[in-house]
Amino acid sequence: MSIAKEHIYLDNAATTKIHPKVFEKMLPYLNEFFGNPSSIHSFGRKTRVALEESREVVADFVNAEPSEIYFCGTGTESINFILHGISFASQAETSKRTLFSSSIEHHAVLESFKSICENGYTTQSVSVNDSYQIDFEELKQFVDSDVLLGSIMNVNNETGSIQPINKIAELLKESEIFFHTDAVQSFGKIEIDVKKIGVTALSASSHKIYGPKGVGCAYVKSGTPLSPLIHGGSQERNRRGGTENIAGIVGFAEAVKIAKSEMKQNEEFVLKLKRNFIDGLNAIAGKNIFINSKENTSPYILSVTFDPDFYKNDAESMLMFLDINGIAASNGAACNSGTIKASHVILAGGKSESYANGTLRFSFAPYNTEEEITITLDVLQKMVDKFRK
Ligand code: PLP
Repeated sequence: MSIAKEHIYLDNAATTKIHPKVFEKMLPYLNEFFGNPSSIHSFGRKTRVALEESREVVADFVNAEPSEIYFCGTGTESINFILHGISFASQAETSKRTLFSSSIEHHAVLESFKSICENGYTTQSVSVNDSYQIDFEELKQFVDSDVLLGSIMNVNNETGSIQPINKIAELLKESEIFFHTDAVQSFGKIEIDVKKIGVTALSASSHKIYGPKGVGCAYVKSGTPLSPLIHGGSQERNRRGGTENIAGIVGFAEAVKIAKSEMKQNEEFVLKLKRNFIDGLNAIAGKNIFINSKENTSPYILSVTFDPDFYKNDAESMLMFLDINGIAASNGAACNSGTIKASHVILAGGKSESYANGTLRFSFAPYNTEEEITITLDVLQKMVDKFRK
């Protein structure tokens, strides 16, 4: 797989380029096989089979049952669906009204919890240390008989820090607390076995793993109370109304198949790229840059901060400089009305606004090359010269 040489794409945590095999696999479902999977005739049967085969592929990948997989529109929708679905379906059955997450969750989790709180729930937030790892001892103190549901992400999208979801699941299982993990940045990149981990629910998204945009999935353990978020027809076993995005779902399943067969070699290759990138950065800026999350971190994501004492820290201008020089990177934080807000994740790690404002995220894919890393480092050399105070 190659990418246009004039631009180097190091923003793979934001989204990825569709894999050619995925694209090929989708085409007939945009054209020839157009039937509605709910239709009884042969056109419908054809797409129904494709839908259920795709479900089996995804279920097998995380060691779930096909009936535990729900296809939906995005990772964001999956998170909204799971968190609202479990909370609201449990309302009549239990008096538990406390939820918890961490201070570094994606906005999809934070905003879902805000919305659920408008219905009589309260939330608690676990803090993180300066390596963006959750404070497990603090989390343990949150566990009590009023807690219904916890949501802690697997891999943080801004820093790459990996959270101890196995340990959390183990702890929560004993207390009969539902546990969701946002696996949008880990799904397809590290092995996930929902039975071994013991999570109640998990969210994933197709466009982060070289699949099409507009498709996500939710794993929800069988027997878990779960109400729909989108009401309508009886699709997805009455949990997500609306005619299914068959081409997208077929493409997602193909991306999962590819991820499964290439996961190990991809990880090794990307880790090498990341290590070379870090070595190069250290050679350029030495102790005047900081790597956020050095240990227990995803090889796919690198968060770097330029020391505000040495550099004019303005991530927006830095990103524009990189873009003009052919490098696409990110600051990892939300961009509202053209202005970049200091990242809640970096601030949660105990850092200042000026530190957050000098933070850039580089995120790698197996189709990046060593040559691209070398070129990027040359551009970064120019960038540090330009932004030095
Ligand atoms: N969760 C995490 C950790 C993410 O990185 C993202 C997307 O960047 C999402 C959720 C939302 O996924 P989607 O873009 O499919 O809505």
